[in-house]
Amino acid sequence: MTQRDYYEILGVPRTASQEEIKTAFRQLARQYHPDVSQDPQAEDKFKEVNEAYGVLSDPEKRATYDRLGRAGLGDMNGMPDFTVDFADLFSEFFGFAGVSQGARRNMPRKGADLNIPVTLTFEESIFGVEKEISFTRDEVCHSCRGSGAEPGTSPTRCATCGGRGEVRQVRQTFLGSMVQVTPCPACNGRGEVITTVCKTCRGRGLEQRTVKRMVPIPGGVDQGIRIRLAGEGMAGTNGGPNGNLYLEIQVQAHKFFHRRQDDILLDLTINIAQAALGADIMVPTVEGETKLHIPAGTQPGKTFTLKNKGAPRVRGNGKGDQIVIVNVEIPTNLNAEQRKLLEQLAVTLGSEVRPQERSFLDLIKEVFGG
Ligand SMILES: [Zn+2]
Ligand SMILES: [Zn+2]
Repeated sequence: MTQRDYYEILGVPRTASQEEIKTAFRQLARQYHPDVSQDPQAEDKFKEVNEAYGVLSDPEKRATYDRLGRAGLGDMNGMPDFTVDFADLFSEFFGFAGVSQGARRNMPRKGADLNIPVTLTFEESIFGVEKEISFTRDEVCHSCRGSGAEPGTSPTRCATCGGRGEVRQVRQTFLGSMVQVTPCPACNGRGEVITTVCKTCRGRGLEQRTVKRMVPIPGGVDQGIRIRLAGEGMAGTNGGPNGNLYLEIQVQAHKFFHRRQDDILLDLTINIAQAALGADIMVPTVEGETKLHIPAGTQPGKTFTLKNKGAPRVRGNGKGDQIVIVNVEIPTNLNAEQRKLLEQLAVTLGSEVRPQERSFLDLIKEVFGG
């Protein structure tokens, strides 16, 4: 692009400090910024200044340049390989906020995400289910295809800002002339005005629609899990992509099953004879009843694991387990015969008591990880 000496461009001596280079650059960038300068060659000069600063502000590149000149910096095209972040520069000198705000109104913007709660029964959460969901979202208006202008008419360029979407004011401040850029009030930053507003959307470019979707929900989902349906959220504006739809899974409580990660917990009450003598009993699982062997001398709080009878792992393979937590019920309302038998048992057991080191509650807490 330019063949002038970088020091010459910035108007600094070859011995200039980094601070001097920076100061010179700031002044020149402000002077030649295409949005400020009336100089017809401002843009070229601005680029030239940027290029010079890009090299001289980097001690390594500067050293190479001092030794070898431009040739030392060249990549294959003979152009220096540096980049100056334009946006950064802009914000540094001119308060980019105003500009970006104006510009952003015209830029494609992603639609908002939607969150929809979906309630499942416990069984549905374990086995998976296909659910029909219905929700309302903004879609691109079908009449005007998002332009906001009545079909057959088209928006006209805003006269106030000449279509730029922003208005500029050059102000003299103690730092020199500063440009203040604000979104155009006439067109709200769009750069065009709609003369005949679309009747369907009243100019919004979007219309509310109720959508139904059949959504397969995988087995194993748990309370609080979010399922993402990409692109099913609100429509974007100015051609931006749609937002996402998130299904927030809520699971109804089951009569006796509880969920803990991929495991299913079941509290099971057995009587003192089953606990003392042992028993084979049928216990419910989500897949139906299965036989569980209770060994003789089973204590309250004892847990048994039924392998692979838990919930499918949503991420990963396999299943969790069912964990059966045994509670031993002390009989109440004994009939005469039962009472007699227990009294006989009591005599053989004697009357010795001993302090318990761990309570039943401790055992339960251990099982639940609390
Ligand atoms: Zn305007
Ligand atoms: Zn419309």
